[in-house]
Amino acid sequence: MFAPVPRQPDHREIEPRILAFWADRGIFGKLVERNRDKERFKFLDGPITANNPMGVHHAWGRTYKDVFQRYHAMLGHDQRYQNGFDCQGLWVEVEVEKELGFKSKRDIETFGIGRFVERCKERVLKYSRIQTDQSIRLGQWMDWEDSYYTMSEENNYSIWHFLKKCHERGLIYEGTDVMPWCSRCGTAISDQEIATEGYRELTHKAVFFRLPVLRPSDFGLRPSNEYLLVWTTTPWTLTSNVAAAVHPELDYVRARLEGNIYILAKPLLHVLGKGAEVIEELKGEKLVGLHYRGPFDELGPQQGVEHEVIPWDEVSAAEGTGIVHIAPGCGKEDFLLGKEHNLAVIAPLNEDGTFSDSFGWLTGVDAQAAAQPVFDSLQKKGLLFRVEDYTHRYPVCWRCGQELVFRLVDEWFVSMDTLREEITESAKQVRWIPDFGLARELDWLANMSDWCISKKRYWGLALPIFRCECGWFDVIGSKEELKSRAVSGWERFDGHTPHRPWVDEIRIKCAKCGKPVPRIKDVGNPWLDAGVVPFSTTHYLTNYYYWKEWFPFDFICESFPGQFRNWFYAILTMSTVLEKCSPFKTILGYAMMKGADGREMHKSWGNAIDTDEAFDKMGADVMRWVFARQNPVQNLNFGYALGDEVRRKFLTLWNVYSFFVTYANIDNWVPGSGFRGQDSEPQPLALLDRWILSRLNSLVKLTRERLDDFDPSPVPRAVEEFIDDLSVWYVRRSRRRFWKSISDTDKQAAYRTLHDCLVTLARLIAPFVPFLAEELYQNLAQPSIANQQSAIDISSGRATTPESVHLCAYPEPDASLIDVALEKEVGLARAVVSLGRAAREKSNLKVRQPLSAVLVRLNEPAEREAILRHAEIIKEELNVRDLQFGDKDAPFPPDYAVEENPEHAVGICKKLTPELENEGLVRELVHKVQGLRKSAGFEVTDRIELHYQASPRLVVAVRTFEDYIRRETLAVTVTGEPLADPDIRETAKINREPAELALKRVRE
Ligand SMILES: [Zn+2]
Ligand SMILES: [Zn+2]
Repeated sequence: MFAPVPRQPDHREIEPRILAFWADRGIFGKLVERNRDKERFKFLDGPITANNPMGVHHAWGRTYKDVFQRYHAMLGHDQRYQNGFDCQGLWVEVEVEKELGFKSKRDIETFGIGRFVERCKERVLKYSRIQTDQSIRLGQWMDWEDSYYTMSEENNYSIWHFLKKCHERGLIYEGTDVMPWCSRCGTAISDQEIATEGYRELTHKAVFFRLPVLRPSDFGLRPSNEYLLVWTTTPWTLTSNVAAAVHPELDYVRARLEGNIYILAKPLLHVLGKGAEVIEELKGEKLVGLHYRGPFDELGPQQGVEHEVIPWDEVSAAEGTGIVHIAPGCGKEDFLLGKEHNLAVIAPLNEDGTFSDSFGWLTGVDAQAAAQPVFDSLQKKGLLFRVEDYTHRYPVCWRCGQELVFRLVDEWFVSMDTLREEITESAKQVRWIPDFGLARELDWLANMSDWCISKKRYWGLALPIFRCECGWFDVIGSKEELKSRAVSGWERFDGHTPHRPWVDEIRIKCAKCGKPVPRIKDVGNPWLDAGVVPFSTTHYLTNYYYWKEWFPFDFICESFPGQFRNWFYAILTMSTVLEKCSPFKTILGYAMMKGADGREMHKSWGNAIDTDEAFDKMGADVMRWVFARQNPVQNLNFGYALGDEVRRKFLTLWNVYSFFVTYANIDNWVPGSGFRGQDSEPQPLALLDRWILSRLNSLVKLTRERLDDFDPSPVPRAVEEFIDDLSVWYVRRSRRRFWKSISDTDKQAAYRTLHDCLVTLARLIAPFVPFLAEELYQNLAQPSIANQQSAIDISSGRATTPESVHLCAYPEPDASLIDVALEKEVGLARAVVSLGRAAREKSNLKVRQPLSAVLVRLNEPAEREAILRHAEIIKEELNVRDLQFGDKDAPFPPDYAVEENPEHAVGICKKLTPELENEGLVRELVHKVQGLRKSAGFEVTDRIELHYQASPRLVVAVRTFEDYIRRETLAVTVTGEPLADPDIRETAKINREPAELALKRVRE
């Protein structure tokens, strides 16, 4: 006996029960053991940041990872199941600061760096546990005890080794640059970070101001009544202005307004407003070399600065005035331009974003708050022209949301000049899926600047750079080297992880001047942490042979947007430096997850979905199916409606499963032996059986092809089509075979076929929906364990049934069962049926009303034979007496309802005879009775007494078709006499004819 099946699958009951089953039986351990030392599938997990509970978008990527690992496990491949946690970096610090209520870096230093770092570690451990639990709930199989943590000593020292290799090639340098800077976090924000998620739509004050042109006079250069009209959206940077840029080929004008002369780009003349009179037109190049008086010449750092007009091809006439204010200490492009023109660099800001000491009345004022004081000062000096609101995309800190400023900083870099080419070669070795990935990565590699690896923070890789005041520096490559070169502090460091503040105790000796030298205070860019994992997790430095066995990896899978500049970039770079190759062979990338409304998920917008809530409401299997069937190239607009859609498909499968179990139990059918006590000699299969087995094997073939090609999304869609075929065609068309009271070979074949379909399907979908697959498998395949005599050959080549679906071999297609022509033929018959149904619907003729004929018109005469082979089925499906063929171009007779597609046209004869109408009435009545049987809770095998009272028309119909009614409803009597104690009764309308119906179960 199979266990009875509830009406609906309840994931809240099934999923925890299956998890417990796997744990109790140690299924995962058995799987790993079984595949040990077999052919390898080498998967590398990109680490998840262990800083918060898992986002629902993480579940998307984890689903892919698990699908491929489970698939390869069923293929018998040996694998590493190592999950990774990303631990170090600003993201963790910011959350811990929030927990502790800190406002700035000063708070951290007061609290104590050591205590702060310990709190960061604790947070990582807490959330890695939570994420582990969530991943288990998702059904992901990993060796959770063996997860790697990027804060581990092995990981950190592996990065030291990498940096040492870079240093040996002369790639590490300390540079001055203008970088986007978060004044709250007190750190530079790298190109990668800002390109990924660093912009927000913001409104700022923009200002038009005028700068007096200096003209030669007897007393040298003197201000005139002629002004450059300039525009900026960052007023605080005016303090550090040193030049004004014009486009040499752009047209400019000198225009008179209220007694003064203004210079600006001709297309922007409207800025001056009414009353301006153009007195001269000239090219920008004529302006180059003009001197002007700066807007804040009174400030200390401006002393001695000569302000000059310079040429710049990037100046546009799209907005502003066509004259761009240049402050090389406050902007990236300005800085480069300054280098080119040898301009003075004024760096106004402290680490916390306030003006530094030399800025007089602005000292201590926050840059973002300086707009109004700057306007006031310009007003006082007669330089203010106009202030207006300006909305633009402005960079913000990707962690804390603070608006960024551009600040002159000293940071450490890995030079990309010589590496760029080598990394490009590595990237080309990879198979990128989707293939535009390669172009994206190459584009990044071609345009990236040097890799800024330092951050002025606390919780992170301690950059092993020791620099002396005299200019000398060195990079330490290992713990052993650190110990051997330490001249002091080792005993205070020993026993600690290589983190701040402990590692800062160490001093080494300067090779140049002999002084004891401390480590620089900076920590590392966190992408170093994640970038080294192809090496650290495989013990590159400590177990070379093990590393050799697993490197390079076959497969990685991460979200595309962002990672080109981050993880992919980091692992490619580090692997290129260490081994001159890519660390992975194939990457499957997927797009972004959005809310159901297509917008970014935001709690305040009500479109965000919490992972745990999704597990509760939707279930892990449904989520996984939603993820797996998504085309990874496209963003996924994730919401509960998608889950409902999938749940309906699952319900169709469940109904087939339930149908099978119900009838198999009634007939006492068991797998393998067939009906107990009967011979189960195989017979030639019926057409339907041959068809569905062909469909099944085609599905298996396609699934393997797609999964072998790392292309998962067609599989769930193909499975859904198969479930549809199985349900609305195979089972529906076979129903009567299961109902038959005798257990003949045809019935036997139907059971065997349907069972084979369901068990194979369970194995096929196991990597995608591990819980549902196990649930089906345990009930459908396990009875043979209880009944060892009849153990079936579930997984090819095995004598006994594996304990779990996940210990089965993945299904293999049986080519001898694939009959493409037959599949096509049935597809054609179904197409005709569906057109016929549509034609019926169009003319409001219920399917239960028998009609005289269907007329089929084909473009392809060869299809006629195929349709004739399925004529009985088509007639039955469409409930028509006759099937006819029409000429390709002949019109349909007028009383036909017609529906067509490009290849076929199908017409249904609408004319009703009294006999057809009577039959229609009876079919409707039978349908009503079936409904009543269900409502009364009768078993499908229960026999009944049927009472009816009806209009004369209906009575005639019932008498004519009484045998048919008995057969269909299992009625032993059909009578006009009232029943004593009926189980259910109803007053109904049968096609507008009133009727009284009553049913009573016959107790035998
Ligand atoms: Zn910040
Ligand atoms: Zn020195």
